[in-house]
Amino acid sequence: MIELRTPTQIEQMRPAGRFVAEVLTHLKDVADVGVNLLDLDAEAHRMIKERGAESCYIDYHPSFGAMPFGHVLCTSVNDAVLHGLPHDYTLRDGDLLSLDFAVSVDGWVSDSAISLVVGTPRDEDLALIATTEQALEAGIAAARVGNRLGDISAAIGAVAHAAGLGVNLQFGGHGVGRTMHGDPHVANDGQAGRGFPLKAGLVIAIEPWFLHTTDEIYIDQDGWTIKSVDGSRGAHSEHTVAITADGPLILTARA
Ligand code: MG
Repeated sequence: MIELRTPTQIEQMRPAGRFVAEVLTHLKDVADVGVNLLDLDAEAHRMIKERGAESCYIDYHPSFGAMPFGHVLCTSVNDAVLHGLPHDYTLRDGDLLSLDFAVSVDGWVSDSAISLVVGTPRDEDLALIATTEQALEAGIAAARVGNRLGDISAAIGAVAHAAGLGVNLQFGGHGVGRTMHGDPHVANDGQAGRGFPLKAGLVIAIEPWFLHTTDEIYIDQDGWTIKSVDGSRGAHSEHTVAITADGPLILTARA
């Protein structure tokens, strides 16, 4: 069921969005060559406790997860692109890291993801990250009253196709509200002019993610981490966006 939020509720959702943005901005600074993924997770956990927020991940146990997630941050490195389970791994020069973070503050959820390279970047990795960011911008620009859900998906997919990238449709964006995952599903490719008519009050996470040379994935032995089948690297960019009468409002915008 697709739920719409009142302008007052959207105002109430802002603190969660601001906090998610603050944590990702901080973690982007902390992430570096020599930093362990478990330390990034611990830092996020410390900030959650300090803020009195509630993690959406720690007890998360959907049908595709082997066990409750048990951590507060997704840390996906190189050929891992989504749901990266933090583990004892120390970041190396040139690693491509995606961080995905969602919490509830005052009973409202926000969800956002960034990708970055630690140390010396490969040009192709910077280009892949830039493409996911452009796709996110294009998706957000299409998140307007009068458009349809398919316009967001088509806008994201067009950026991927222009970059010569395939699009995986198994995981995409989603409604956000009292819980992390609600309707509608926001696919990262689709047909413009099709699907649910976008209305003021719809709050969704838009989250393009692409792999260099494949659109096929598998789940790692850890039961969570999603990796490319061919070992090519992936990137992921996500914001929680409220569709308003005045246009899209990015709740997780970073300063
Ligand atoms: Mg997310």
